[in-house]
Amino acid sequence: MKVGFIGLGNMGSAMAANLLRAGHEMTVFNRSPEKRRALIDLGARGAETVAEACSGEVVITMLADDSALRRVTLGEAGILDTLGRGATHISMSTVSVELTRDLTQAHEQAGQEFVAAPVFGRPEAAAAAKLFILVAGPAAAVRICQPLLDAMGQRTFPLGTEPATASLAKLAGNFMIAATIETLGEVLSLVGKGGIEPGTFVDLLTSTLFPAPAYRTYGALIAESKFQPAGFAAPLGHKDVRLLLAAAESLRVPMPIGSLLNDRFLRLLAQGGESLDWSAITQLAAADAGLARIGRSGA
Ligand code: NAP
Repeated sequence: MKVGFIGLGNMGSAMAANLLRAGHEMTVFNRSPEKRRALIDLGARGAETVAEACSGEVVITMLADDSALRRVTLGEAGILDTLGRGATHISMSTVSVELTRDLTQAHEQAGQEFVAAPVFGRPEAAAAAKLFILVAGPAAAVRICQPLLDAMGQRTFPLGTEPATASLAKLAGNFMIAATIETLGEVLSLVGKGGIEPGTFVDLLTSTLFPAPAYRTYGALIAESKFQPAGFAAPLGHKDVRLLLAAAESLRVPMPIGSLLNDRFLRLLAQGGESLDWSAITQLAAADAGLARIGRSGA
């Protein structure tokens, strides 16, 4: 398939590489053009503009946030202006329910298809084509996109024909991960201060009551206080909690743990944590307990 890919960050570069390996004809665009290099070396065509990436049957976006996706899609000479009628925009970034609705409407009016397909999985999972993909959009468009999703992920979860539902499900899942990170921070501070080695406790937890990927991945990172390089940077984590709270407010669903997490992220960012992984909010629980870091050596 002839595919454009826009947004070659930690996630997008690995996803585009897997599409190339699966034999698709790729044209890649990134705001900072040097990030195209590795993909051009693998056989992709480098686009100088968003428009050049919109000449195929499908264009995929994997951008940081609402403002980036809004600008690239609705801005001058953006996707809306340049994608052909009947062609499909697959939006894979984690963005707001509201923007997903706006883009659904805009593409519909332009005679283009719009599919939301946000993902679970960090850059390592993207590189291994092991993402979990939540997909929602018109059934025929989703069917056409399926081989592309299969090249990037291990399983696709269809969530109906309304793209905004995929964004809501993604934000709900990320909220659960953030809440897991916070509880791990609190409990590993507790056991660490009480004399139990955090790594041993994570092994105990994940071998018994909590054998889930979120506990395994983040338990290991937090027990080792390994927050750099950031697989998922703290500003992106903060963005997801804010978007979750906005969706919850518009549906009138109180989520008090979401409010607590919003404060945790704000404090981490206020204290210079921009470049850290989002799991670094656990440093705050450690500091609350009077520890320099999680771990027996932290007291
Ligand atoms: P990233 O490494 O920060 O990459 C962000 C991408 O967005 C880059 O290509 C960046 O271009 C581009 N961008 C940012 N602002 C822009 C703007 N105003 N105009 C045009 N392009 C802009 O982020 P990531 O980790 O790949 O995440 C991408 C998306 O996937 C986010 O929505 C994130 O929430 C979601 N996600 C991430 C993970 C993860 O573990 N990392 C997992 C699941 C979902 P430049 O290179 O020029 O800055």
